[in-house]
Amino acid sequence: MTSLAVLHASQVVTLSGPKRPRVGTELSALGILHNGGMLIRDGKIERVGLSDEIEKNVGDEEIVDAGGRVVMPGFVDAHTHLVFAGNRLDDFERRARGETYEQIAKAGGGIWSTVQKTRAASELDLLTQAKKHANWFLSCGTTTVEAKSGYGLTVEDELKLLRVMRQLKKEVRLEIVPTFLGAHAVPRELSPDEYSDVVITEMLPRVTAEKLAEFCDVFCERGYFNIDQSRKILSAAKKVGLSLRGHVDQLTNSGGAKLMAEMGATTADHLEQTDEQGIAALKKANVQPVLLPGSVYALGSSRYPRAREMIEAGLAIVLATDFNPGSSPTPSMPMVLSLACTQMKMSPAEAITASTVNAAYSLNRGDKIGCLEPGKLANFVIFDCENYGELAYWFGIPQTHAVYVKGECVSKS
Ligand SMILES: [Zn+2]
Repeated sequence: MTSLAVLHASQVVTLSGPKRPRVGTELSALGILHNGGMLIRDGKIERVGLSDEIEKNVGDEEIVDAGGRVVMPGFVDAHTHLVFAGNRLDDFERRARGETYEQIAKAGGGIWSTVQKTRAASELDLLTQAKKHANWFLSCGTTTVEAKSGYGLTVEDELKLLRVMRQLKKEVRLEIVPTFLGAHAVPRELSPDEYSDVVITEMLPRVTAEKLAEFCDVFCERGYFNIDQSRKILSAAKKVGLSLRGHVDQLTNSGGAKLMAEMGATTADHLEQTDEQGIAALKKANVQPVLLPGSVYALGSSRYPRAREMIEAGLAIVLATDFNPGSSPTPSMPMVLSLACTQMKMSPAEAITASTVNAAYSLNRGDKIGCLEPGKLANFVIFDCENYGELAYWFGIPQTHAVYVKGECVSKS
């Protein structure tokens, strides 16, 4: 494996700190080294320090001159729907004409159109499209993504999606953390109760027997899965050893955050409608909120989750893209940073912590990735700017200079 000496970074944003997700003022402590560098051996970080000190210790390492740019941990995107067929350009154009979600669904659009295309696609077709998506993520500076199934909604089609993820892991350098989201929507063939039974008695046993997922997720929302159905599915998943995430309180404040607290979930995602009681419940149970401003933006809404209240309540906040063909067609964490700062009044430093180290903990990987310190994997990005804040400030322009996974350059501009 390659050994590297990274030199002359204007800032090495280490995010070094306590070995747990960051809260409150810790979210602003980025552990920046000015004119910094790193020594990397066998894919891991061996030393982080001032560039001059690192240079003194250089032996036969390959030199990477950061040239006065920012060096940061690769982004960890803790909520994506990475694998699907086709796109939803039709929906996009309809929304631009002012049609509502209900009108679009009636006209044959919405999630159901992606389900039909995904069911019809072969594993190879899905793999080919997913590879393209994976390379988008890398080129935006993301080195790890969580990825959900959920566009199959039959036993075989859900397994197909999870198997594509397993194959994708072998073929791309992006790290993929698989989540089973059989309860993403109710298929037209069944009632919500009937389908919940299928998820619990037919899908979950197969998913766990083949070790296809680390997490189980559910879309708890009016018209999808109610609190009781969601509780049943999550309880069954917990019993077979999966950790829990949930799409909750996105369109209505239906008590989803409280349910995730009750279940001891790792994360509660979306939370656009969550109130103070929901926030207090998440705090009490140490559930990490995963906020997805890209989907609020792309749906043309202005109801962003209450990030500031969550930070003030002491929650270990996470930001993610929600990459999916319907409501958030972006793989770009820098775009999400921009939205977090302009629409949710987070500072650039808070947004970076939420999308690196906190996101890593939300995927049970805080001991391996998310910050730049000795012993961690050398997953890092060189961005073409001098100050980390520029990542959130300039928007709509790629600033990625080079991306490294386990010390190997996987994307270069
Ligand atoms: Zn989602």
